[in-house]
Amino acid sequence: MTVAALRGALGDRFVLTGEDMAPWCRDWTGGYRWAPLCVARPGTAEEVSAVLRIAHQAGQAVVPVGGNTGLSGGTCGDGAVMLSLDRMNRIREIRPEARVAVVEAGVILGALHAAAEAEGLSFPMTFGAKGSCTMGGILATNAGGSNVLRYGNTRDLVLGLEVVLADGRIVDLMGALHKDNTGLNLRTLMIGSEGILGVITAAVVKLVAQPKAYATALLGMRDLEASLDLLNRLQAVTGGQVEAFEYMPRRYVEAYARLHPDARLPFEEGHDVTILVELGATAPRDVVPGPDGQPPIAGLLETALGEMLEAGDLADAVVAHSEAQRRDFWALREAAAEVCTSRPVIICDVAVPLDRVALFLGQADRRLAEMDPEAVAMVVAHLGDGNVHYSVWTETTGAARNAIMEAVEEEALALGGSFSAEHGIGLAKRPAMARFKDPVALEVMRSVKAALDPKGILNPGKVIP
Ligand code: FAD
Repeated sequence: MTVAALRGALGDRFVLTGEDMAPWCRDWTGGYRWAPLCVARPGTAEEVSAVLRIAHQAGQAVVPVGGNTGLSGGTCGDGAVMLSLDRMNRIREIRPEARVAVVEAGVILGALHAAAEAEGLSFPMTFGAKGSCTMGGILATNAGGSNVLRYGNTRDLVLGLEVVLADGRIVDLMGALHKDNTGLNLRTLMIGSEGILGVITAAVVKLVAQPKAYATALLGMRDLEASLDLLNRLQAVTGGQVEAFEYMPRRYVEAYARLHPDARLPFEEGHDVTILVELGATAPRDVVPGPDGQPPIAGLLETALGEMLEAGDLADAVVAHSEAQRRDFWALREAAAEVCTSRPVIICDVAVPLDRVALFLGQADRRLAEMDPEAVAMVVAHLGDGNVHYSVWTETTGAARNAIMEAVEEEALALGGSFSAEHGIGLAKRPAMARFKDPVALEVMRSVKAALDPKGILNPGKVIP
């Protein structure tokens, strides 16, 4: 009945069933699999509205889906209409003077990067899934990534939003304004709502000047405390130009080397702490090459590194001297999801205050060793913003898996941290929501959900326990 009605609204071609649904029946990790009713592929906000009106009337579950790269099971949709935004993939407009882009939800992140770059600008959100994740998914999960330190999370990068509500009404919040105090901020409410409050169809996002020079280095550090000292020093001498500050322990680098035996690794001897640091500059004083052919921003980095080498805080450093070398450095970091999911894994994505990351890692390792001596912690972190991906390789199944995740989250919370940094809640973190989230906050969330989606058709069973 619903499928026939959807075919009437979108045309047969854009409502898929059977084998044709295969790409929408599992997530990127393969850890989540499901059997939807059908896949609806609307091409406009009005068609999204039509799909939701039909579903609303029928009380039919709808799961919005972008690139399916989310890591929390947020797109699982047994018996649901998978509402794919993949056809809504137009960059409607780039307004370089206003530093904004108007994008549809199905735009792939990498495509926006390329379009902004053609204008000498940048959409500064980036991470390993950029070739397949979509703007809709990024907005719905309030994604973070490697440049949060400088540019903030998705929520900080959005000025306007278009959202279709569960009953099909379209909310137009597509302003390109930096100031707009007109009542409750529905834009920030919708960002990070993981498809449970509405379907995001378009957005106005901020662009920034494309750095004209980067200084990128891989560092072998004595310990994490020394690396934080370096971060603060670099921020001071560059006036806040650190774009990324990423931590990879020895075990991670070794696992990457096993997966990519031909990769060029910078250090002959591994280090307990490897840091990828990147500075980005736009001002001519930092960008225009000096007599040595290097941009001054690279000189700032090399001077700071030299001082730390002399003080014995830094064991080794390799500065990228070509774009190819820079890309090799980033390939090492951006393989994190591939490395961590290369064995049966529990993905923990926590945040802790920057000065407590080392303490957290020590305590989480101790808890893990007590609970599962065979388990291996596979850690990688956006250290500059305190976001630790504490993945656990383990053969453990069932309740013991949940216990491990809970223990890691407890250690983060005990240090003033959060049990979800950037991957959202989806299905994976729902137990943590029930355990750790303030009960009054949960009540408010339930009220908001009931007000916007009284029949509970939008991404049911996700986020709110
Ligand atoms: P999907 O996986 O399709 O959906 C994610 C959630 O959003 C689901 O709940 C879905 O229902 C909802 N949703 C999707 N589209 C819409 C829409 N239009 N309207 C309403 N709801 C919608 N995340 C980070 O934050 N930082 C990282 O550094 C990072 N690195 C990653 C690296 C790799 C290799 C991978 C595979 C993932 C990584 N992620 C990272 C996970 C990240 O959440 C996703 O990559 C991205 O934000 C989700 O985009 P997507 O289009 O794939 O969304």
